[in-house]
Amino acid sequence: MLIDLHVHLDLYPDPRHVVAEVVRREMHALCMTTTPSAWAGTSALVENCKRIRVGLGLHPQLAQERLFELPLVDEYIKKTRYVGEIGLDGSPAHKKSMESQRRAFGYMLSCSTSAGGRFLSIHSRGATTAVLDMLASYPDAGIPILHWFSGNAAELRRAIEMGCWFSVGPGMTRTQKGSAHFMSMPEDRIITETDGPFFRINDQPAMPWNVEDALRDMSNMRDMDYLEITSIIYNNFNRLVRLLS
Ligand code: MN
Repeated sequence: MLIDLHVHLDLYPDPRHVVAEVVRREMHALCMTTTPSAWAGTSALVENCKRIRVGLGLHPQLAQERLFELPLVDEYIKKTRYVGEIGLDGSPAHKKSMESQRRAFGYMLSCSTSAGGRFLSIHSRGATTAVLDMLASYPDAGIPILHWFSGNAAELRRAIEMGCWFSVGPGMTRTQKGSAHFMSMPEDRIITETDGPFFRINDQPAMPWNVEDALRDMSNMRDMDYLEITSIIYNNFNRLVRLLS
C-alpha cells in the first residue's frame, strides 16, 4: 500500500491521467495546493477518489503575490482537515519576501487553530528554525509534518522534541544529508512523499508511485526488508489519520 503524503497532482502536465493511475494503484495521496484559490478546482479534480485528499495551501514562494487570497482560507478551512503546502522559504531567491511569508504562514496556522487543528504539510527550506519558532507560537494548530526536512541536526532534534512528523521522499533518501536525517528520525513519525512534479527523477517529474524508490532506500538504510518498512509507514499513516479524527 503506497502513500504519497506530499504531491502536487494538479501541476502535472496531464493531471487527470496521474489521478487515474493513483486510483488504479489504490494509493493514498495528499495533494498539496500552492494558492487558496486552487483548492476548489483541485478538489473537483479528485472528487470521488476516496484515497486522495486535498490540502489548502499558500506556498511560501507565492506568499507575497497571493496574500490577497487569504480571506478564502476562512471559508475553505471549514471544508478540509488538511492544510498544505504552507511554511517559510529562506533560500536566497525567496528571503526578500520573508515578511509576507510570515504573514501567510501565521494566518494559516491561526485559521487552523481556530478550526480545531489541522493536518499541516510544511515547507521549511532555509528557514527551519523560523518555522519551528512559528509552530511553537501556535501549539494548537494541529499535527505538523515537515516535508523534505533540510535543516541541521540540532534543528532536527528540536523538531522531534516538538512532536513533528516527517514526510520523506527520494529527494532525501538519495542524498547523504537527507539519509543521515532519515536515520535520526523516530521510526513511528515517518511517512513517504514525492513532491512531484517538482522533484524530478532522471530528468522526469517524479510520479506518486515513485515513493517506492524512497521505500527501497529506507529499507536498505534501516536494514529491513521492503515489506517491513512498507508496513511501518502504513501503520504510521493509519495512526496519523486517527490523530485527526
Ligand atoms: Mn511541495
